[in-house]
Amino acid sequence: MTKNKRNIRVTKPKETAAGTPAVISSAKHILSEMSLQKGTKILLNLNQKEGIDCPGCAWPDPDDERSRIGEYCENGAKAIAEEATSKKLTLDFFSKNSVSDLVKLTDYEIGKKGRITQPMYLPKNADFYREISWKDAFKLTAEHLNKLDNPDEAIFYTSGRTSNEAAFLYQLFVRAYGTNNMPDCSNMCHESSGVALSETLGIGKGSVKLEDFYETEVILILGQNPGTNHPRMLSALQKAKKNGATIISINPILEAGLLNFSNPQKLSGLLGAKTKLSDHYLQVKINGDMALLQAIIKLMLEEEEKKPGSIFDLDFIKEKTHGIDAYLEHIRQLNMDDLIAICGIPLEQIKTVVKILSSRKKIIACWAMGLTQHKNAVDTIKEIVNLLLLKGSVGKAGAGTCPVRGHSNVQGDRTMGIYEKPSNIFLDNLENEFNFQPPRDHGYDTVKSIEAMYTGEAKVFFAMGGNFLSATPDTNYTAKALENCDLTVHVSTKLNRSHLIHGKEALILPCLARTDKDLINGNPQFVSVENSMGVIHSSRGNLNPISDKLLSEPKIVCELAKATLNDSTIDWDKYLEDYDHIRDNIEACIPGFEQYNKRVRLPEGFYLPNGARDNNYFTATGSANFSISKAEAQQLQAYEFLMMTIRSHDQFNTTIYGLNDRYRGIYNERRVIFMNPRDMGKFGFEKQEVVDLYNYHGGTERVAEAFIVIPYNIPQQCTATYFPEANVLVPLKSTAKKSNTPASKSVVIQIKKSISDTKITS
Ligand code: SF4
Repeated sequence: MTKNKRNIRVTKPKETAAGTPAVISSAKHILSEMSLQKGTKILLNLNQKEGIDCPGCAWPDPDDERSRIGEYCENGAKAIAEEATSKKLTLDFFSKNSVSDLVKLTDYEIGKKGRITQPMYLPKNADFYREISWKDAFKLTAEHLNKLDNPDEAIFYTSGRTSNEAAFLYQLFVRAYGTNNMPDCSNMCHESSGVALSETLGIGKGSVKLEDFYETEVILILGQNPGTNHPRMLSALQKAKKNGATIISINPILEAGLLNFSNPQKLSGLLGAKTKLSDHYLQVKINGDMALLQAIIKLMLEEEEKKPGSIFDLDFIKEKTHGIDAYLEHIRQLNMDDLIAICGIPLEQIKTVVKILSSRKKIIACWAMGLTQHKNAVDTIKEIVNLLLLKGSVGKAGAGTCPVRGHSNVQGDRTMGIYEKPSNIFLDNLENEFNFQPPRDHGYDTVKSIEAMYTGEAKVFFAMGGNFLSATPDTNYTAKALENCDLTVHVSTKLNRSHLIHGKEALILPCLARTDKDLINGNPQFVSVENSMGVIHSSRGNLNPISDKLLSEPKIVCELAKATLNDSTIDWDKYLEDYDHIRDNIEACIPGFEQYNKRVRLPEGFYLPNGARDNNYFTATGSANFSISKAEAQQLQAYEFLMMTIRSHDQFNTTIYGLNDRYRGIYNERRVIFMNPRDMGKFGFEKQEVVDLYNYHGGTERVAEAFIVIPYNIPQQCTATYFPEANVLVPLKSTAKKSNTPASKSVVIQIKKSISDTKITS
């Protein structure tokens, strides 16, 4: 066996999230990147009314009272530390560090270098970025765009940090230029939720508000780890528990944040008092969720048939839904033993959950990537909807759907029209308002964009934020795709791997961060965002920008549009006088934004209309739809494992804050694979042995080298690894049906002993 020579430390996984360790960790991260004074200035404003919206996840802020000292979580503090760091990347840095040297660093090391302070250009065949003026950067980009044979040879990516104002202008520019090639990070996260919810409930967003958590009876949490990914959700769960709710968690791994919570905003929490969160924890096999849901529903149906109306909400079903008879017939035909074999949950445990659900009328279902990144993700989410419809648990207080979004404005960007498949109504509105003909053909999503760049059909890649290479699957394939481009352009705050695996020419355009003041002629501007529950609210940075050469994202879009578009019918200069003009145009084009400029100035913002919340279903049938799906077992050979990629606790999407995963007990290391101890024994792997991971999808060998085996409480033949390190194994062509989201949570791998403990960096 190859024993690792690395500095890894492994402890027992934690059973309680947050508490004092979270406060200490927050302070450490803040103080490692900035002064106490600067940190305090930001944190006291973070998530406050009229303050700075956290650039982390999209969990909502309370509508009413907010803690004056800390309306944020540990990972919010880490996000701030990372974004508002005082470290700067000067020209000296770029002249001393070649791209070929920088690319050897890990994502963590690259991210720790600091903020980019001026536009940078990498000429053809050069190995060092050099400074370029903004004027020349726009000119170069415009020249590349204008020499393409067809606008569809360009791709315009968006990450979920982009504000509503920037996103609206960006899609407007891209469509005025002539393409709908607008992939975004949604394609890789909640696209499956959007598709499933649109078809069943008529709106591709969740239906619940934060207050619903406080009056619900049951919260189902599926494939989600809020302790790391949406930590303030734990306060909502705590309050729900206090009000009598039962929490049922369904997840392959026991996560500290689903077990117990010590609230760091309360003295009792800091002193160690904890709230037990999950009353029942079903450790389902990876992707066994649909089978489990169907098993639950089948048992409920058996009881309902003994005494009609005792379990299901028959009035709701009759008045508001479509397809009940065929659905129930389908459920009757299912074989309980098959469902149990697929989900791996014993019948007794399922019966316990059935008993709880049967007697309750207000249920909230929450989920995240653990559900959305499977081939059958859309159908699994529809099965959640089936359960809620049977119980009449949509369209009323204390009940509904809650797909928890990962990035702070990913939902808002889609609302603003960042979508490769825009509706005709939206395009008509653009046409009427701006007097140009937007393209009608659908564009490329993320997966199709990568394929188009790989084959040479796309030649220019422009990214509004994000770290595309580290966020996407099949790393080696995607790297080649980016390298094939004539030009890659990234609007960024900090250096990342996507700047170092680049097109023939490359640009980095540095922008203001969420925490930065944005002034036009001395007048402060604000932007707005939409959280996971459809609340639109403002965000105002309060720091002096780290450099006077940074531009806001709206300014970058407008200047690029002016440099690129001849005879544009759009008055781009107007937007740079005041962002109210952008919001006026949003109001004119997108329903729900009436009196936008007035209502966005309300301290708590305003809710967008939501049919499902109001018990109105704008679907093809005019009702909420039941759907029929078949749960299928993942076929694995005896020597194969199912791998899901996960985040560590020191991580937000592709940003790596540190090398620890405190809750899971892993320190100083990220190249680890969590395995069931019985599987380890069966295959002769020892604790902390170094192994290589292989995937052979489509006849291509994909290898991720030098992972350390960690024995862990996870179902047999299931494994977990951190992304982006394991993204190299995720086949680009293995995607969810209908949503085309890469199936990063069900990657078939083989695990082989490693011959050496090579330190791999990418
Ligand atoms: S829960 Fe999400 S939005 Fe709130 S502070 Fe934490 S990371 Fe930021």
